Amino acid sequence: MGAANIRAAVVGGGIGGLSAANALLRRSIDVTVYEQAPQLGEVGAGVFIYPNSLRQLERMGFRKALAKVGAKVGAGSEYYRMDGTLVGKILTTDSSGWNGMYGMHRADLLNAFAAAFPANAIRTGHRCVGFEQSKDVARLQFANGNVAEADLVIAADGIQSALQKYVVEPSTPEYSGSRAYRGLIARDKLPNWRREAHQVWMGDGKHFMVFPVRRGELLNYVGFVPTENETVESWSAVGDRNELAASFAGWDAAVVDLIEQIETCFWWGLYDRRPLRSWVNGRLALLGDAAHPMLPHLGQGANQAIEDGVALAVLLEGRDADEVADILPSYERFRRERTDVVQAEARKNGLRYDSRSGTLEQRDKEIASSATLRKWLYDYDVEQAAISYRAESRTAAHA
Ligand SMILES: Cc1cc2nc3c(=O)[nH]c(=O)nc-3n(C[C@H](O)[C@H](O)[C@H](O)COP(=O)(O)OP(=O)(O)OC[C@H]3O[C@@H](n4cnc5c(N)ncnc54)[C@H](O)[C@@H]3O)c2cc1C
Repeated sequence: MGAANIRAAVVGGGIGGLSAANALLRRSIDVTVYEQAPQLGEVGAGVFIYPNSLRQLERMGFRKALAKVGAKVGAGSEYYRMDGTLVGKILTTDSSGWNGMYGMHRADLLNAFAAAFPANAIRTGHRCVGFEQSKDVARLQFANGNVAEADLVIAADGIQSALQKYVVEPSTPEYSGSRAYRGLIARDKLPNWRREAHQVWMGDGKHFMVFPVRRGELLNYVGFVPTENETVESWSAVGDRNELAASFAGWDAAVVDLIEQIETCFWWGLYDRRPLRSWVNGRLALLGDAAHPMLPHLGQGANQAIEDGVALAVLLEGRDADEVADILPSYERFRRERTDVVQAEARKNGLRYDSRSGTLEQRDKEIASSATLRKWLYDYDVEQAAISYRAESRTAAHA
């Protein structure tokens, strides 16, 4: 049998799935996305796209599309104590000074990704309910009765991944003890708000953050509050605005005034998972939250998912369908070194934000010097690193 191009199936049309599918397409790998929802869509909330993933998305052809809908984040970005005392500046550039960072409305990001696909490459209304594979092919079953075959299956189906159990024994996500109240406010309601600022206020067991999205027309806010009750992870759960206001009563006037403007907010229980034993099995690979769900305290979950997709695409480019199962372990080896660190650092940063990391003075010092970690995150170029890794692996194999 001659060489055959890889046919990939991506399960999950979230930020991880659609960006991975774009990365594969860009490297001439045939791809179909299967999403359970009847339509692609994301909740009305913001997501940070940091330099480490923005430089990848720009190379993938999204420079103009993102500049059109993103909100530049930069000037005035600062950390404060709960009363508004300045703790330090927030780094918003990479080491070269490139201010490649957007606050994005999640739906805007997904729309940009989806617009780049050929017709029929995204199949909505396809909830994956089963997976099997032989040496030659992988097969997916969907709740609507359809079946699909592929040489490679990427499980980008989120923290409650249905496909994870085909890779490792199921492990339940761990509840952080904290809940995020979240939503969007028209910037017109707060005309004096700093246009480009990412701002974080840190108090006892709680923190509050704000950044602009959609060209700066909207402000995305998140209030993190401890709770004993494990909240479902559902953006459709409507939060109690008065409870949010009570949680931040007496904080800096900027926070209190913003909360006064909120009409509706949503809440979300915060979960992560310790690093999984494995991410791949034969022709199946986990990606994004399905592989490494992390707490949002570094804003890197979606950014790391985007990096995963680029890495996979580089490692698979030009390879044969028969080689997929041999290549996937190198994707896991290459990626988890970084994501294990980011998962752990996100937990630590949450403790700092919630003032649970030593004395306040120690915490303030750590926050003020957090630029070192941020530089490590933002300077990384996953495409270049994966190209080098692939070349080194080849040299080692031929040695
Ligand atoms: C409060 C909060 C703030 C955050 N802020 C940031 C931030 O600023 N920056 C950042 O990088 N990250 C942030 N994150 C994390 C980020 O949202 C996630 O890491 C990211 O969305 C993961 O993307 P994903 O595509 O892997 O999974 P998901 O976004 O969960 O997408 C999974 C997709 O798969 C679909 N699906 C599920 N099961 C099936 C099935 N069986 N068959 C077919 N389809 C299926 C779902 O419908 C969904 O569309 C934040 C998270 C929270 C909770």
